Amino acid sequence: MGKCMIVGCGGVASVAVHKCCQNSGIFEEILIASRTKSKCDDLKRRLEGTTATKIKTAQVDADKVDELTALMKEFKPDVVLNLALPYQDLTIMDACLKTGAHYVDTANYEPKDTAKFEYKYQWAYREKFEKAGLCAVLGSGFDPGVTGVFAAYAQKHIFDEIHTIDILDCNGGDHGYPFATNFNPEINIREVSANGSYWENGRWIETKPMEIKREYDFAGVGKKEMYLLHHEEIESLALNIKGVRRIRFFMTFGESYLRHLKCLENVGMTSIEPIEFEGKKIVPLQFLKAVLPNPADLGARTVGKTNIGCIFQGVKDGRPKSYYLYNICDHQECYKEVGSQAVSYTTGVPAMIGAMMVLNGKWNRPGVWNVEQFDPDPFMEELNRQGLPWIEDFHPVPVD
Ligand code: NDP
Repeated sequence: MGKCMIVGCGGVASVAVHKCCQNSGIFEEILIASRTKSKCDDLKRRLEGTTATKIKTAQVDADKVDELTALMKEFKPDVVLNLALPYQDLTIMDACLKTGAHYVDTANYEPKDTAKFEYKYQWAYREKFEKAGLCAVLGSGFDPGVTGVFAAYAQKHIFDEIHTIDILDCNGGDHGYPFATNFNPEINIREVSANGSYWENGRWIETKPMEIKREYDFAGVGKKEMYLLHHEEIESLALNIKGVRRIRFFMTFGESYLRHLKCLENVGMTSIEPIEFEGKKIVPLQFLKAVLPNPADLGARTVGKTNIGCIFQGVKDGRPKSYYLYNICDHQECYKEVGSQAVSYTTGVPAMIGAMMVLNGKWNRPGVWNVEQFDPDPFMEELNRQGLPWIEDFHPVPVD
């Protein structure tokens, strides 16, 4: 059906590439383009002979529009799936506009010097994509991503009006290290060390990092402590889910993770301010990333499950209603299937589905869109088919 260029070749991209190759009727040809070409070549070697998808590889610095444009002129992708880092979103969107390719990503643009997690930079591209007749789908991972599709599904099929959304992200996995992050350490630590915030009655309420804590009993995992974080999909859901009064995001963290993070913060290792070291400018957080375990390599040693989903409360036919939609994913099952742990899997699978929706035309209209602005049904069907089946609970325990 089409050609997809995948930018980046880390934990999430590796899963997405495996999944594209499992769907070779849609992904006839893919180009894996990343900073380190040898990683793309290794992945190609592992997959060739197991799939009808033709695989090409290339080196690219995705910070450079010219390099991206040259590569895209040669490969002529129908869609570009951006699985590099949030810093590259705008250069890749610019290259798509220059060469006439659709765009899909899993995380919103961030300038390197602030960790704000907001959509304004990418929403500013709406008119350009509309005029070019191109479609950009923002945030097609799990959260953001599936959580937005779940919200659109609840709005379409379950409620007349949704009043509250609690997004609960639980990782009950254990990798055996005292401290490691499950996706890119720099982005992960920026996210959890920033102030928390939630949306209530039309405005943001800001909290200190990790100030709000709750315990929840997760199906498939058990009781875990979770903390309120700011998360980017709150911003788009507040606009796109009509009548919503409160949206919160909670993520579970183990005691060891939090103790190490506090210590690293206290000694200045999580700072994104560059410092002078032996005549060179270095960013402490980037140095920390270099010494931490690579999330893409955690697969073999991670056991346990993730449970990510949304609890909705609202009204249907004049009566109050609650509804919980979630997915449980097993780290070792993911490793057996694609050689990755469940955090990469739960992001890489919806990323592939987002690109599939654009290629098969089910989610393809000119402009820049968040996932909840499309019909959730074809995406929900694919989640069940592609390894992330969803579970419904009509009597969930609410979060206080
Ligand atoms: P990794 O660090 O494992 O992979 C990032 C990849 O991007 C690496 O291959 C890296 O190259 C490549 N890269 C970085 N900078 C450039 C550049 N300038 N040019 C070309 N390639 C570059 O990260 P993850 O796979 O864990 O995460 C990927 C993305 O997914 C991130 O944006 C993250 O925020 C997002 N994410 C979204 C989630 C969701 O649910 N929505 C959940 C988890 C992650 P190299 O190999 O040389 O380092």
